[in-house]
Amino acid sequence: MIQELQLRILPEEAVSEQSLKQVVARETGTSVPHIHAVRVLKRSIDARQRTIFVNVKLRAFIDEVPDEPEFRSVEYKDVSAGKPVVVVGAGPGGLFAALRLIELGLRPVVIERGKNVRERKKDIALISREHKVDEESNYSFGEGGAGAYSDGKLYTRSKKRGSVDKILNVFCQFGASTSILADAHPHIGTDKLPRVIENIREQIIRCGGEVRFETRMDALVIRGEEVIGVETNTGESFLGPVILATGHSARDVYRYLHDRQIPIEAKGIAVGVRLEHPQMLIDQIQYHRKEGRGNYLPAAEYSFVAQSGGRGVYSFCMCPGGFVVPAASGPRQVW
Ligand SMILES: Cc1cc2nc3c(=O)[nH]c(=O)nc-3n(C[C@H](O)[C@H](O)[C@H](O)COP(=O)(O)OP(=O)(O)OC[C@H]3O[C@@H](n4cnc5c(N)ncnc54)[C@H](O)[C@@H]3O)c2cc1C
Repeated sequence: MIQELQLRILPEEAVSEQSLKQVVARETGTSVPHIHAVRVLKRSIDARQRTIFVNVKLRAFIDEVPDEPEFRSVEYKDVSAGKPVVVVGAGPGGLFAALRLIELGLRPVVIERGKNVRERKKDIALISREHKVDEESNYSFGEGGAGAYSDGKLYTRSKKRGSVDKILNVFCQFGASTSILADAHPHIGTDKLPRVIENIREQIIRCGGEVRFETRMDALVIRGEEVIGVETNTGESFLGPVILATGHSARDVYRYLHDRQIPIEAKGIAVGVRLEHPQMLIDQIQYHRKEGRGNYLPAAEYSFVAQSGGRGVYSFCMCPGGFVVPAASGPRQVW
């Protein structure tokens, strides 16, 4: 029997599959050995009252072994014979564009100015250790893009960004924990993100696509009014329709487009300030307890939204226990 339950339970009861099995046994009048698996579908914390609860929607498999996969997979087919499309940049935009091209039967050729996600780590370490910024391999440039060495937070306020659910499932397919499908504020985790990125790259290559590192697009190849490829710093040209997924920090690319009078449009940006609080303080406030979050609750967060002079002011994302990283992509930038 498969049973879906909506529960309001204590944090210590929600902490593991084993503790959830005990709750399910209690709620359904069965015993733990009969419960083969518990799949959490949605999880959020309700800290409005003095007693903190975790709201959990789950699916319990009682006397039944689950035969459904934990996430939906996309079947990526071989596209070696497909028409090539050049993707410039292996950040999230470029990598997901490449996966989508494969779904459409096209062959992605991804070129990335930085190094692969593991090699890149060494250059990132040099920034903190020796204050040296490699202009092609840093927090902003390299496989995985700007957020590759961040927490990998996956939530958005926007409801207009296409299927968030599909993206979360794709991340699971490439090695992210399935808890991201259930958590109200999912995140992949800095420790897991590089492996997920490598798995995406390996998939692209397995399907017949290409991923080239340390290969920077320096110019577009244009015939008449049409972009037909790119020229790179390695002296090679890559031909095909071009997707520019060069991200926020590729100033040289935007300068190049501007200088050649290729229409580009500025995007509105939000300007932020950093606020730092001791985590204990936020835990004490949000969880109404002097001892903070204790053993079963995650680091507390808050979000803040207000209007000021007709403009929205809001807190962006909290990074409990996080580091402040120098995300410069050039040696003379402020950091
Ligand atoms: C420190 C940090 C932490 C962040 N944390 C989060 C988070 O937790 N959650 C979240 O949602 N967002 C986070 N972000 C924001 C997120 O990283 C960006 O929104 C996202 O990376 C944008 O993706 P993108 O693919 O458009 O561009 P980018 O990630 O900037 O990728 C562009 C890629 O293109 C390559 N490139 C640029 N020019 C060229 C060229 N000429 N030739 C070849 N390759 C080129 C770059 O090397 C880079 O790899 C964070 C950003 C930073 C800096």
